[in-house]
This record gives sequence, structure tokens and C-alpha cells, in this order.
Amino acid sequence: MSHFTVECMDCGHRSLYNPLQTTCPQCGSGWMTARYDLETLRDGFIERLQKRPFNLWRYHEVLPIRIPNPPWSMGDGGTPLVSAVNLGLMLGNENIYIKDERQGPTNSFKDRQAALGISALKEAGITEAVLASTGNVAIAFSAYAARAGIKLWAFLTSLVPPEKMREVALYGTQVVKVTASYDQAKKMAAEFANQRGLYYERGSRSIPSIEGMKTIAYELAEQLTQQLGPPASGAPWRAPDWYIQSVSGGLGPQGVAKGFQEMYEMGLIDKIPAMAHIQTAGCAPMVKSWEADRVEPLTIESPRTHIATLATGAPGRTYTLLYQHAKTYGGTFLAVSDEEAYRAMHIAAKMEGMSVEPAAAVAFAGLFQLIRQGTIKPTDIVVLNCTGHTIPIESTVLGEGWARNLVVSRHTADATVPSGPEEGLLSALNRLTADRYPRIAIVDDTPDARRLIRRILQAQGDFTILEAENGRQAIALARNEQPDLMILDLMMPDIDGFGVLDALKSDEQTAEIPVIVVTAKTLTPAEKRRLQGQVHSLMQKGEFMSDDLSEEIRGLVE
Ligand SMILES: *Cc1c(COP(=O)(O)O)cnc(C)c1O
Ligand SMILES: [Zn+2]
Repeated sequence: MSHFTVECMDCGHRSLYNPLQTTCPQCGSGWMTARYDLETLRDGFIERLQKRPFNLWRYHEVLPIRIPNPPWSMGDGGTPLVSAVNLGLMLGNENIYIKDERQGPTNSFKDRQAALGISALKEAGITEAVLASTGNVAIAFSAYAARAGIKLWAFLTSLVPPEKMREVALYGTQVVKVTASYDQAKKMAAEFANQRGLYYERGSRSIPSIEGMKTIAYELAEQLTQQLGPPASGAPWRAPDWYIQSVSGGLGPQGVAKGFQEMYEMGLIDKIPAMAHIQTAGCAPMVKSWEADRVEPLTIESPRTHIATLATGAPGRTYTLLYQHAKTYGGTFLAVSDEEAYRAMHIAAKMEGMSVEPAAAVAFAGLFQLIRQGTIKPTDIVVLNCTGHTIPIESTVLGEGWARNLVVSRHTADATVPSGPEEGLLSALNRLTADRYPRIAIVDDTPDARRLIRRILQAQGDFTILEAENGRQAIALARNEQPDLMILDLMMPDIDGFGVLDALKSDEQTAEIPVIVVTAKTLTPAEKRRLQGQVHSLMQKGEFMSDDLSEEIRGLVE
């Protein structure tokens, strides 16, 4: 029995979690949420945390995974809560705290989403995934995917700074640069995943993503308690009066709100904080909707902001959830201009020593306004999520050709047809499909060895990979599939690599297939002579770098 179930937000139907089940089995809704037995968990919850390290896995009873602290962990979550004394002096509020999410493994709070997301995929045995991103989601997922051995496709809008795109590519992710808006990039990524039957990361409709973000709430309640003591009410943990974040799609606040709600239900905190959602004026659909007192979001067709990270024009149902939360527990939506954000960037750096990316500076600019206009009171306890910081050094280590270009024609980019993939989209996507990729056969009797080579190939380019686990299969595969190249192990039971070579060379249908031998065997002079003229190169297992192998392969198939 799993320790949580998935509940449909529309009909309440409960089922077991399966990452590939993206709609409610009863009503077809795409909106589901994780439910834990909080009633039972509340007893001893705090005691159980005592001996655990301060990272996000310490809350594993309320996370949708089976294995906490997985091998691909990089010290996830557990970021510091910093008292912003100087900003407090400037603004006349002593209780401003900064949750410094720049200190995550890839320098943004998307690391939480990725840590949980990749864990959920691994636990479900999924090895390839697709996402769309305004930058940081792709960076975070790419890093974790690299460690966990999951192949990733990232659809990035061309607005994403090249430094960020290069970082994504550096991790071995397949970058697809989409010359269109972020909302269109999402559509294309979803369509691409659908065509190929791949897992698609659904952001705010993805259980692990929301649950990852919620750990921010748990952490900061613990940290505030450490710094300020528990509240007078007798609740063990302290919740802030305000949580402030710069917002694009709103995944962060949606998850954080859920975290506070759960803690409240467990009696860990005595109140649910108000939330302030700050957007850039050039792309502020939530603010516009809030100001018009709408439950349903308006959408912005063409965002006008230099801050690409925050360019979600169509926030969807997440807005409605945040709207309802703000109506119930207090909160607001506010827009600041790009210029205000840049000024706030200077202030955060000069006063608190924090160099933040413009998207994070948007929250600082919002904080300044909300305090000045009196929405946030001088005695309120405020936590600002300092969402991200990037260090763009990758441009110096990556050559050309790290992205594919996908240009959607003007006509399509105007998005006159709101739903369904347009013809332009489809034909553009088809240019990315697998049929024309070089076909490479990997022959090795050990699964780990095959996995390693597959990983190297997947990270370095587009190949259709075929596998055989013994000599007999290899010979049949060569005849039936006519691969462009074979990577061959020598030591196998039954028909070994030498036997495979003999068979290939004696059949005119397969004699021309180039072969690279990758072996752990130390070859005798006689064996070396036997291979001469038969194989294109010989690589010793454990001694070649992935780049050597992929260069060899490129030389042979291009
Ligand atoms: C993603 C992101 C945001 C917006 O967060 P959402 O919760 O998805 O709206 C803000 N700042 C940075 C640095 C981000 O990467
Ligand atoms: Zn349902």
C-alpha cells in the first residue's frame, strides 16, 4: 500500500499514482493532487525529523516518492533563510527574511521540482522525457536527468538567454530552440511527447512538481521557528505573515500554498500566510485578472518583457487556485516594470550581498512597493523567495551546433488558431523525428555496459539505437536491420565478438557494416592480428572518454 493517493480536483476520485496516468480515470480531468494521511502523520511528525539532515528529503512521509535521498541527490533543498537586516532598515520592517534558493544545485528553486520529478520518473522506470521551459526548469531537470541517466528533450523559446540554453546543452539534454512564445513552445513539446509516446513534464499539473515546491513551505516554517521561536498560540512552528515570489506560471506558490495547508491541517502552524504574486508588467496576466476580480485568467498573447523567465502568458487554472487562496487567506497580485526589477537587482546586491537574476529581482521590487503602499505592515513577518541566480560561463566551453532550430512561420506564431497543433507546428516537429537518424547496434552481454554506451550516444547526438545481448542476436540484427554501425563487445558466451565478426564478414549483406570493438579484454598479439582490417577501431573499456567514442562514431556514420 502506497503512503499517498492521487485525488482528482474535480470529482474527488482517488487512485494510485502513476506518472503516465495524466488524467482522472473517472472524469478525465487533468488536475490531480497528492493526498497523505495527515491525521496519522501528525503524531510524532516533528520528532521523526530530528535526526534527519536539513534537506527536502527529511519530509519524505509527505512526498510522492518511495526512496528518500536517492543516488542522484545533490543536496536538494535545505537552502538558508537569511535575515535581510539592511533591507529591513531601509524599508522600516525588522522581519524580512530571504529564502535563498540561489543556493540549490543549479542555482534556482526549480531544483526542488527537478529532484522530485526525476525521482518519480526513476521509480516508475521511465527513461526519456520532454519538457518546455523558460530556462531554469530545463537547467534543473537536465542536471538531475544527467545524474539519473534519463534522456531529456528541452523545448526552449528563443527568448531564453543563450547562456542558459548552453547550460542545458552542456548537461547532454537535446535542446530544441523554438522561435515562438513560451506558451507555443509548451504546445509543441506536448505534441512532440505525444507523437513519440514520451513522458511530458506538465508543470503545475504534475504531482512531483507541486510536491517539490511545497517543501519550501515546510523548510521555512522550521527555519522561522529557529530564528524567532514558536508563535504565542502554542503551535510548534511559525508561519510567516507573507510569502512573496515572482511568478510566471505560478507553480511555486501553488506548491507552497499546499505545504502551508498541510502543516495547518497537521496542527504544525497556526495560520496560513498571505501570498504576494509579483509579475513583470510586460507579462502580467494574473495581475490583470486579479485587478478585474476574475476567477478565470486573462491571457497575454505576446509578452513584452526582457525577463524571459517570467513569460507565461496563459497561466490557466493555477491562477484560479491562487486567486481562491488569496480570497480565503489574504494576498495580492502586483506588477512591476522591467526597469524597477533592474533597480531592485542593484539594491539586493548592494544591500544584502545577493546577486540575483532579473526574474528574482521582480520579487524584491514587489516587496518594496507592497511595504511602501502599506499592504505589508511594518511588523509583518515576510519571507521572500529569492528564486534564482545563474552563472553564465558555458559559452566558453561549448562549440557550435548545440541546439536545433525550430522556426515557426509568422502565420503560425500569431496563434490565430488557439487549440490543436497547426500544420506548421507538425511539419516542424516532424523534422525532429527519428527515421533519418543513424542506426547503431550495441552488442554486449552485460546490461550495464549497454546502458553506458547508450547514455553516451544519447547525450551526444541523435541515433536510433538497437541492442543485442549475445552473438546470435547480433548476427540476426545485422541481417534484418542493416545498422549503419555496430559497437561490439568481444567476450560473450556462446558466439563471442570474434565469431560475430566472422559471420558478418562472410555474408555480403553485412560485410560492409562498420564495427567498433569496445572490450575489457587485454588482447594477445594473435587476437590483435585477427581483428586487423576487420574493425574500424578498438577501445578499451574504462579507458576511453565518452567524447572519443562519439567522435569515432560521427566519423563513421556522417
Ligand atoms: C520559474 C521562476 C520563477 C517563476 O516561478 P513560478 O512559480 O513558476 O511562477 C521566478 N523566478 C525564477 C528565477 C524562476 O526560475
Ligand atoms: Zn475526476
